[in-house]
Amino acid sequence: MNLHTKAVHAGERRKAAAQTPVTTPIYTAASYSCDSMEQLDRIFGREEEGYCYARYDNPTNAALEAQVNALENGHGALACASGMVALQMALATALMDRRKSIVAADALYGASVGLLMNVFEPSGVSVRFAGVCDLDGLRAAVREARPGCILMEAISNPLLRVGQIDRIAEIAREAGAALIVDSTFATPLLLRPLELGAHFSVHSLTKFLSGHGDVLGGVVISDAEHYEALRRLSRTIGPVLGPFESYLAMRGIKTFPLRMERQCANARLVADWLAAHGRVERVYFTGDPAHPDAAAIRRLFPPGLFGAMVSFEVRGAGKPEIFRFMDALKTIVRATSLGDVHSMMLYPAMSSHRELSPKHRERMGIRDNLVRLSVGIEAPEDIIGDLEQALG
Ligand SMILES: *Cc1c(COP(=O)(O)O)cnc(C)c1O
Repeated sequence: MNLHTKAVHAGERRKAAAQTPVTTPIYTAASYSCDSMEQLDRIFGREEEGYCYARYDNPTNAALEAQVNALENGHGALACASGMVALQMALATALMDRRKSIVAADALYGASVGLLMNVFEPSGVSVRFAGVCDLDGLRAAVREARPGCILMEAISNPLLRVGQIDRIAEIAREAGAALIVDSTFATPLLLRPLELGAHFSVHSLTKFLSGHGDVLGGVVISDAEHYEALRRLSRTIGPVLGPFESYLAMRGIKTFPLRMERQCANARLVADWLAAHGRVERVYFTGDPAHPDAAAIRRLFPPGLFGAMVSFEVRGAGKPEIFRFMDALKTIVRATSLGDVHSMMLYPAMSSHRELSPKHRERMGIRDNLVRLSVGIEAPEDIIGDLEQALG
């Protein structure tokens, strides 16, 4: 055989050993060959399970999808290249056979508002925002807008409101709408939207699930009714996560429950400490007994777990004071994103909600003295010590 031919074929396409590797390898292959054309034909026709092309299925992604689907008690999952494209896939699938109308929670991740306003609305989908913590108000909005889909976050960003997913799922079903829950802030440790009647659960894998700040990814977990349509759409559009990122996400998720338990415990300590600090005007935390959604939280979350996000307002601060406070942080990382092993702080008015006008922010309750803290797994006294020295 010629050297040019050997370079391409030698060593490749060997059958895997009879032994099973203890972790799923990173499959980089773009396509798969079969022993016979007949078998390839059956796989292309989806009469036989198997792999033929990486845009359709990939064994590394399949392992991650099975892992996340098990955590969420779903029917099936789709790993995507980002949380945003996961959200887009869920919305597109939900609206496929439904009215092209969305009722969305009025408190959403900034880019999710952008997705609705800059992608869905210009393509002819009507979008209406409504509060999801006031069920009567939501019912009225749904009656008027007659949506094909309701979109909400399990814990809203950055003010940490908690809607009653099970009751909202009933409102959606009565209206013939699908319910999509972005559960990124809650994670499957706190609640599992499909168990509460949602049709889709969506996560940014970038955050708590991967947890180490080294993966950008997303995932849609679907019920049985929508799973085939979701995969069909994905085979055409190709929003899929790369196998390297799939591997990293799966590796991260193995320790996610341990990390999250620790982060939740740390967040409680930090929130209590902040509430007692003279320079802190107000603390937003889901574990606060005076939280406006305390009854829903008690009903939906497991005892003692409230999430790892704490938002707070610095008394009398504007942008310059917040910049000075955040510049003084030594351990807590000044960065966008959340859910990592290290604590991180973000200034919503500058980052996640930058595109909104000051008046729109004010109406949402996002003031210029508000910061958002994602509490990590460090020793709690070191996180508190850093806040203490920076607050001065
Ligand atoms: C980060 C985030 C997203 C978007 O995820 P990406 O992985 O950045 O695309 C969506 N929703 C929420 C609540 C998020 O925090």
